[in-house]
Amino acid sequence: MKEDTPGADPGTRSAVLGAGVLGLTVGLRLLERGEGVTVYEQHPLPGGLAAGFEIEPGLWLEKFYHHLFRSDRHVIRLIQQLGLGGRLEWKRPLTVTLSGGIAHQLDSAGSLLRFRPLPVVDRLRLALGLAALKALPSGRLLEGRGAADWIRGVMGRRAYEVVWGPLLKGKFGDLAEQISLPWFWGRVHDRSAQLGYVRGGFQLFYNALAGRVRELGGDLCFSTSVTGVKAAAGKLSVTSQPAAGGGSASATFDRVISTLPTRLTCRLAPELPAAYRERHDWGLAFGAHCVILELDRPLTGAYWTNVNDSAVPFMVLVEHTNYMPAAAYGGRHLVYLGNYRPMDDPLFIASQEEVLKAFLPALAHVAPGFEASWVRRAWMFKAPFAQPIVTRDYAAHIPGFDTPLPGLFVANMFQVYPHDRGQNYSVELAERLIEHLARTAR
Ligand SMILES: Cc1cc2nc3c(=O)[nH]c(=O)nc-3n(C[C@H](O)[C@H](O)[C@H](O)COP(=O)(O)OP(=O)(O)OC[C@H]3O[C@@H](n4cnc5c(N)ncnc54)[C@H](O)[C@@H]3O)c2cc1C
Repeated sequence: MKEDTPGADPGTRSAVLGAGVLGLTVGLRLLERGEGVTVYEQHPLPGGLAAGFEIEPGLWLEKFYHHLFRSDRHVIRLIQQLGLGGRLEWKRPLTVTLSGGIAHQLDSAGSLLRFRPLPVVDRLRLALGLAALKALPSGRLLEGRGAADWIRGVMGRRAYEVVWGPLLKGKFGDLAEQISLPWFWGRVHDRSAQLGYVRGGFQLFYNALAGRVRELGGDLCFSTSVTGVKAAAGKLSVTSQPAAGGGSASATFDRVISTLPTRLTCRLAPELPAAYRERHDWGLAFGAHCVILELDRPLTGAYWTNVNDSAVPFMVLVEHTNYMPAAAYGGRHLVYLGNYRPMDDPLFIASQEEVLKAFLPALAHVAPGFEASWVRRAWMFKAPFAQPIVTRDYAAHIPGFDTPLPGLFVANMFQVYPHDRGQNYSVELAERLIEHLARTAR
């Protein structure tokens, strides 16, 4: 216990809603300050959107493809702090864009200059546009402007039609034209060609993080959904429901920190006033959908294939075992077929069988010669609120950490804008929240 930590009150007990990277980092940092913490998580495992599943006992793979960038210094530091730095591997796997039925490498200045779907002059304009965004220190300078208009104006109409338009449409559907330029700045500015991965899966990091929270005395309540938060005699009462059934339980805390999307926090806390809801229970988010195939052979030569082909029903193909070796997975070749869609899209209610029936024939567009008999096994994962729709007016609706309900704080991945959501930015946000709590402690 660190009684001399500025702003720390060893008597303070916080409930943290969500055991993704954000909630666990908040929990860890509060415990390091000597405070009491209970973390509630609806799922049986830590890790949230970055959590894994076991292909076989002890062999983890993420439900949704994940890697790190060199610029992800907050999460890298945390991985190292937990003693897993030696498991971080950095590689430069191949990224390609499928355009006109041909996969073109597009992951470096050299490959951009050789990118044949665009005339040379457009390749140069695209390169200059990327260089300008890389050089700009802050996306805030671009606030209020739209990505699509800027790309067409600076990089050229063809660069938009061939490269960026299909990516924006794949990720944001009909709202692609409304996406903000600061977000696009983040996508370009924050990314490195080298990608990092925790050998053995990010789940090892999340298990270690949850283990450290427990060692420091934190309570971790897995398979427990929070169903309500309300004021209770100067404190806050949290009602929760275990997945196993049985009655709901209530506990009282000095603080509640919700890492859930603001929309869900608003549903849990009916005392949040109408004006707060009007401003912050706002905007759209898409869900994520991934099919993972286990194949008996490699499929493409690339790790990452952007599928710029409207005849193919997935927007990205990520061949994980062109990044981490198939040998690490018992010789299995593992391929993700990913989509972001509105949360009421029929894809989210389709059975795995129905989805495979639609997706497998389309694979031949991406990997000529593909045969369904190469597939040994498949899994399907879905998650709501996985991609905030960052339209031009998004920034005005991002809530601060404080809410009008005393003791209730919100910190969620919807606040990391203009950066794209990512594990790193959730860790950074958690650390900023801790500083905020220390500064404003009574
Ligand atoms: C397809 C896809 C690919 C991605 N790729 C990358 C990548 O390559 N690199 C990268 O760094 N990031 C990537 N991300 C983003 C990354 O996963 C997220 O930014 C990060 O995991 C967010 O963590 P979080 O803790 O902020 O939120 P979450 O992970 O969403 O955590 C919130 C937690 O709250 C829990 N919860 C919700 N409601 C309740 C309730 N009522 N009671 C209790 N618990 C509740 C949820 O189960 C969840 O565990 C990707 C995301 C997706 C969807």
